[in-house]
Amino acid sequence: NGFNEPVIWTVHVEVRLSSKARRRMDIIQGLVRDYITSSYERLSLPSLLKGWDADSTLASSVERIAISESSCPSSSLPLSEISLQIHTYQPSENDTVEEYANGSGDGGEDVLAASVCELPCRSWEGLWEGLIYADNIKLKLLDYIHATLVLSDANVDFNLVSWNRVVLLHGPPGTGKTSLCRALSQKLSIRLSHRYTQARLLEINSHSLFSRWFSESGKLVQRLFNSIMEMVEDEDSFVIVLIDEVESLTAARAGAMAGTEPSDGLRVVNALLTQLDKLKHRKNVLVMSTSNLAKAIDSAFVDRADIIQYVDLPPREAIYEILRSSLCEFVLKGILQEVSVPPLEDVLYMEKNGWYSKTCLSDKVMDTSYAQQDKIGKTLLELATKCREQGLSGRALRRLPVLALAGYIGVGVSASSIASSPSPNAPSPNGAFR
Ligand code: ADP
Repeated sequence: NGFNEPVIWTVHVEVRLSSKARRRMDIIQGLVRDYITSSYERLSLPSLLKGWDADSTLASSVERIAISESSCPSSSLPLSEISLQIHTYQPSENDTVEEYANGSGDGGEDVLAASVCELPCRSWEGLWEGLIYADNIKLKLLDYIHATLVLSDANVDFNLVSWNRVVLLHGPPGTGKTSLCRALSQKLSIRLSHRYTQARLLEINSHSLFSRWFSESGKLVQRLFNSIMEMVEDEDSFVIVLIDEVESLTAARAGAMAGTEPSDGLRVVNALLTQLDKLKHRKNVLVMSTSNLAKAIDSAFVDRADIIQYVDLPPREAIYEILRSSLCEFVLKGILQEVSVPPLEDVLYMEKNGWYSKTCLSDKVMDTSYAQQDKIGKTLLELATKCREQGLSGRALRRLPVLALAGYIGVGVSASSIASSPSPNAPSPNGAFR
């Protein structure tokens, strides 16, 4: 039996509460569920819900209701094929709770080697959406990590199936690896909020940890892991450890081998690996790490990683979306005049089937707004192609609109000319560039 039963997809609904909200989470979740089932027949994935503020309880407690993207093959599903998982969360306002500094050197200044922050936090809202990759890699990673957490929750026998709770992201610099780890942590803290009352991220910057004063580093590693162990003891708390620039571990070990450093370096690396091994038995921990040089990572560390994901420079389509989201932000904040920049799907369709201006110029009536959209889309896609040829990283792309605007700031600029040639038009009276 069961052959004819429809597939039911889990759809995650993320409900962000305002800092003032005092209502019980289960009451809010019930109201959100009622609102969705009474107002929608289908849901678009992803989408932001509107209109819920007609309910006074929701209006006073909720800031945002988002339907997350899903790995199901369609971008829209009827409610009958959906199982809703509603997550409510109240992001913490303060960024960093605690900091760990490496022992001061000759100059007396401290090197910040680690920091802890409470999750989900307000400053990382929107980080997930702002990171754009090909092949659904964000979602694949999230699902994969989620799966390992479900397995460990089910108390699977470690002698039969075992893993280390370590994820490694590697690839060229500026491709968003550190940001992706933070965004994943934020997502996990929201998705796991029904199981853990608290989530924390401890970020270790290996470069500063190993850059000098190995004997100090040894003490610091010990102190860091003592704190982690303390946090992990609380089983209601989920702890994510992010080890950035993990290739610095190798440098420390290599230095020790070559005899240029005292064996302190080696001892620190070994201490860190031993501590990581202890963490693998704890259900409420995840270790994420990043590296710009996969070849240079300590092989003992790579061996411990369950998931090794290469994060590449963005392809043309992702570049288009990155630039588009920056342009839309300029429009939203009134820096550029209101124009609509077509979504990727539309622009790829037009590229394949002929640009609007080409196909419709023969029509007597030419809708200028479509023609303008078409021109902006085409120009931006050409720019994306050029950026791809240059091999620009995500970081360089996020900076590009600033440089473009700076280049035009004296002259005034239109949305399409930001991607092509200067415009002689003067800025409008309200300050928006035309
Ligand atoms: P890495 O750790 O790989 O060096 P970062 O996480 O420090 O990269 O990324 C720096 C910034 O570059 C991010 O804050 C983000 O704004 C931008 N960025 C990088 N990759 C992407 C991407 N794929 N999509 C959108 N923005 C990106």
